[in-house]
Amino acid sequence: MKVVNLLAVVDAAKCRGCKTCERVCPVLAVRVENKKAQIDEARCRGCNNCEQRCPESAVAMVRREEPLVVRVDWDEADYAEIVALCRRARLNPEQLVCYCTATRAEEVAAAVLQGARSPEEISLRTGARTGCKVECIQPLLRLLEAAGIQPEPPEGGWQWYGRTVTAWEIPEDIKKKYAGFYFDEDIKLLDRVVNAPLQGRRDS
Ligand code: SF4
Ligand code: SF4
Repeated sequence: MKVVNLLAVVDAAKCRGCKTCERVCPVLAVRVENKKAQIDEARCRGCNNCEQRCPESAVAMVRREEPLVVRVDWDEADYAEIVALCRRARLNPEQLVCYCTATRAEEVAAAVLQGARSPEEISLRTGARTGCKVECIQPLLRLLEAAGIQPEPPEGGWQWYGRTVTAWEIPEDIKKKYAGFYFDEDIKLLDRVVNAPLQGRRDS
């Protein structure tokens, strides 16, 4: 869940139409037409990406008149399916996957089960990946993959959707080669996290 207080606003007089903002927006809220950037206010999740990267300082973040609350609808979610999807992705449903917005794996799984087919759609529905935008892409990709979805990065963007190897996927020959490392012990510890009992605090 994210409460979006900010909104990106473009000063058309300064904009040169370079498309940097369009390429870095995690929810595809920017379109450049006729060499001017336009923000879709309903989509903007206030992440500051465009503002921080505009070479012309043409974007400003302003306070929204009314905060926008972004959250999944738990009434439309089958929680047993959510838990199963998280476990397939080797995530505990209640673990944080986006630290900036405190989004949990179960929220992302709910978004996927409710139709999100890409990291951009997940970000739009949950707010995840609209903070630092660094760490949370991997659990998002794992949850999409566990649902049988292989998203393609947006055309013309600068996103990269490569998934990194998890502890469970390290090949046996690598484990043998680096026998002094604690691969199997790490996996046991991570399995305990994945399968830890749930607290049932889906209040946000
Ligand atoms: S990054 Fe700045 S100059 Fe480039 S299109 Fe966006 S608003 Fe315009
Ligand atoms: S979501 Fe971020 S990058 Fe996209 S328009 Fe809003 S502030 Fe800019």
